[in-house]
Parts: sequence; C-alpha cells; structure tokens
Amino acid sequence: MTEIKVTKTTSPKQKPDQNNLAFGKYYTDHMFVMEYEEGKGWYDPKIVPYAPIALEPSAMVFHYGQAIFEGMKAYKTKEGKILLFRPRKNMERVNISNDRLCIPPIDVDFAVEAVKKLVEVDKDWVPEAEGTSLYIRPFIISTEPHLGVKPSSTYKFIIILSPVGAYYPEGINPVKIYVESNYVRAVKGGIGYAKTPGNYAASLKAQMDAKKKGYTQVLWLDGVEKKYIEEVGTMNVFFVIGDEIVTPALNGSILAGITRDSSIELLKSWGYKVSERKLGIQEIYDAHANGTLKEAFGTGTAAVISPICELNWDDKKIEITGGKIGEISQKIYDAITGIQSGKKEDIFGWTTEVK
Ligand SMILES: *Cc1c(COP(=O)(O)O)cnc(C)c1O
Repeated sequence: MTEIKVTKTTSPKQKPDQNNLAFGKYYTDHMFVMEYEEGKGWYDPKIVPYAPIALEPSAMVFHYGQAIFEGMKAYKTKEGKILLFRPRKNMERVNISNDRLCIPPIDVDFAVEAVKKLVEVDKDWVPEAEGTSLYIRPFIISTEPHLGVKPSSTYKFIIILSPVGAYYPEGINPVKIYVESNYVRAVKGGIGYAKTPGNYAASLKAQMDAKKKGYTQVLWLDGVEKKYIEEVGTMNVFFVIGDEIVTPALNGSILAGITRDSSIELLKSWGYKVSERKLGIQEIYDAHANGTLKEAFGTGTAAVISPICELNWDDKKIEITGGKIGEISQKIYDAITGIQSGKKEDIFGWTTEVK
C-alpha cells in the first residue's frame, strides 16, 4: 500500500483542559488528507498540520452536497494503551455511503491504517480522564469546480481528530424525546441509510422545534405513513417491551449504527430476546398503557447509550422508568464503555490497539 507521508507541525497547540472538553470544540495538531481524481484513483495520502483547506467556490460539495462522513473514537486505557472500537465497521460503512452518493470506494484496510497512523501522530491528544475520548471524524467531499449536476470527478478524503469530554458529565442521563409527526428525515429509496450531511440538514428544523419545546432530540417516524419508528436524531433506538427488546429493522431509511449492532450482539450473548422488526409508535403507547413498556434507549458513538425518560407524541406524553436509568440500558452502557476503555475483557475482539 502507498505510504502515508507525515509532515509534523512546527507549532504544536496548547492542549485543552481535560475536564472541560465538551464535544467537537478542539482539534488536534494534525489531519489526514488524500486526493482522488478520475482515472488516477485515490492518491497522495498524507498527514499534515491541521489547517484550513482551499477549495474553489464552485467546488461541487457546496452546491449539491455530495459528501459523506463517519464518527468513531479512540480511548486511552489505564495502562496507557490507545484502543479503537470496531474501526473496520466505520470504514466499511464509508463505502456503503459512498456507493449511494456516487463517490468512488476507498480501500477499507488502508483507511483503518490511516486512522491508526493519525491517532499515533497525535497520541498525546487522547485524553485519559474518566469518560473522555478522542473523537475521529473521517469525511469525503466532492471538490470538482463545476456547476452542472453530476458526480464530481475529484474528491478529498480527510480525517480530523477532536478530544471530547464525557457526553453526560454527571453519568448517563435520561433524555426527553419529541416524536416528530410533521417533518420526516428519510424515505425508503432516499439517502437515509447513508451517513451524509444532507440527512442532517434535513433534520435541523425539527430538532430546533423540539428544543424550543424542551426536548433533547426527535424520534423520527417513517416518511410515508408516519406510524413506524425509525431512529432518534443521531442515534438508533431500542425499546424493552415485556421480555422482548425491539429495535426497528434496517429498512433502507435507517442508519445502520455500530453501537446498535454491538448492543444487539451483547444482548443476544446475555440470552435476551432481541427483535429487529417493524415497530409502530402506537405499539409503544399501548405497551406503556398496559404496563409492559419497561425501558427505551438510544445508541450511538457520541453518547453510547442514552436512556429515554419521556416521549411526547402529538401532545400525548408518556414517562418511562420514572426518570431513572433502566437496568438493561445501564448494563449495555457498562459493557460497551468497559470494552472501549480496556476495563472489561474484549470477548468479541472489537478493539484494535494503536501503536
Ligand atoms: C451515526 C449515526 C447513528 C449512530 O451510529 P453509530 O455507528 O452507532 O455511531 C445513528 N443514526 C444516525 C442518523 C447517524 O448518523
């Protein structure tokens, strides 16, 4: 494989206070950049000082949004080792998103190596305070200067790093979720299953409306009947109904989360009955009414597990687990964060060391 050329910064930045990192506020000293040109393929992979990039105002990404991104994390263990969590899964997902957005595929193994090498170069930036990590943001943008609508003939694949704090500084915190029955996020046949900026642009208005009403995020319903549960903002969603743990099946409009997949594997390994199926919002309200709705939680890289304590669907509010964290939510959170931070045995072989 092509070698990744490293140019180190001559003016390293001051590192932020580890106890006050928040999310996506600070960037490390370096970034990875690789170019693509039609007929030439991906070329010139390099690690360079973190800096602004120059693009033509006519670069296609600004006009037609042909772009994809990923989100993953590196964790420092007590022993000072740096671990990545299932990085191949993220890079495989890049190619799923790329395919939908007509972006040429990347070499998955090479991309994982690029992440490792970049994290290695900036290893002093991986925070070690409890709950902190180094967030990794790979993304691809279309760069051809052209105003006609077509796939770009040139791209940039960039990876930046951001030290982040514990998502919930006071431990995992239950969130209130607004069930969105006006706007929709995605439809089958659309781009819902791709991790692409357009899905987020489409979600902002509902997100802002929900915030105004005092809710953290929205729960999306299917784009056609607005009856079936899809996912929550930046997370997949699970419900514990009786002795069944249900998450919506991947139907083409839902993002296939890696935390979702890890949660399903863990739950199955513990002997729980997990179903990936169609799940109506009415079924959730019925389960609440008859006392079988036990827990609800979101899964995603940023917060890992977000217990849901309240849903509001057309002004009908239901409370779940009385504002507390459900037993299963806590169990998955402890298991995943335990494996990520090297505190628990990695029985599934999910972590990869950076060295
Ligand atoms: C990234 C993302 C998720 C969560 O995926 P993870 O791989 O678990 O981080 C869920 N939904 C959407 C829309 C996302 O973009």
